[in-house]
Amino acid sequence: MLQRGANVLLIEARAEAGGSIRSERTTEGYVVENGPNTVVSKDPALLEHFAELGIADVRLRAERAGAKRYVVKDGKPVLLPNSPPTLLATPLLPLASKLRILAEPLLPRATTPDESVATFFARRLGSELMEQFIDPFVAGIYAGDPHSLSVQSSFPALWEAEQRSGSIVLGMITKATQRKPDNGEAKKPQMKSEMLSFHDGLATWPRAIAGRSVSGSGSTHPRRRCASAPRAGSLMCTAMDNHSQCRPIRSSWRLPRR
Ligand SMILES: Cc1cc2nc3c(=O)[nH]c(=O)nc-3n(C[C@H](O)[C@H](O)[C@H](O)COP(=O)(O)OP(=O)(O)OC[C@H]3O[C@@H](n4cnc5c(N)ncnc54)[C@H](O)[C@@H]3O)c2cc1C
Repeated sequence: MLQRGANVLLIEARAEAGGSIRSERTTEGYVVENGPNTVVSKDPALLEHFAELGIADVRLRAERAGAKRYVVKDGKPVLLPNSPPTLLATPLLPLASKLRILAEPLLPRATTPDESVATFFARRLGSELMEQFIDPFVAGIYAGDPHSLSVQSSFPALWEAEQRSGSIVLGMITKATQRKPDNGEAKKPQMKSEMLSFHDGLATWPRAIAGRSVSGSGSTHPRRRCASAPRAGSLMCTAMDNHSQCRPIRSSWRLPRR
């Protein structure tokens, strides 16, 4: 928005912008992440965005060795499966669960408009896989309960795969092998998926955005709560201060035309 010349008003209820992203460095020099620790992307636009914010050089990429993750089972480290063949070979699941996974393409598709992450994976892949893998995975990404999260919002690609092909496995294979129609548009540049953070933690990113809105034409208002919703074509905000008194802090501004 700043690039397009908008006068950005950043209103944040907490002391620092970033929401769940909160990083701190201890006196011993360690970086502690209180929320998310990495972001995964294969969109070159994100790297351009980091360069534009001046934080591309302090970004950290996960080492290839990090692709292998282990869990401790019966006192021994066991490789976490990261592909369909390793899922079928893993000693973490009994044979019955593996057969259940192989039967996934034969199961009927959902008829409900949405369901919880837990119901979706238990229905498609069995409750054992849901409890052993999906539950810890969801806790790691969303710090949430798979019984309360919507699968359509949390795993849209898998939900769409089932809707499209009646099966997660078939849907993903179809998508991977499908040729995109040539609509004459220039192809978007592609890059390999990267798992990223920064030398001082993930909060480097929202801090840079907040800093930019101060140094640009915008302004930042920490510990202020935005109390009104955007209106058509313009944004009007009122801030509520610590004493719960409502007061307008800025008049409305128009979004720039593309
Ligand atoms: C423990 C944990 C670990 C996670 N790990 C990962 C991970 O490794 N990788 C990953 O990709 N995702 C991870 N996530 C998910 C990720 O953090 C969230 O998806 C993402 O941060 C959501 O960003 P957001 O801006 O939509 O919301 P939030 O992070 O919730 O930010 C919303 C912000 O808006 C402010 N706000 C709300 N209402 C108002 C108001 N009325 N006025 C002013 N300010 C207001 C809040 O104070 C807050 O700062 C994790 C989440 C948690 C909790």
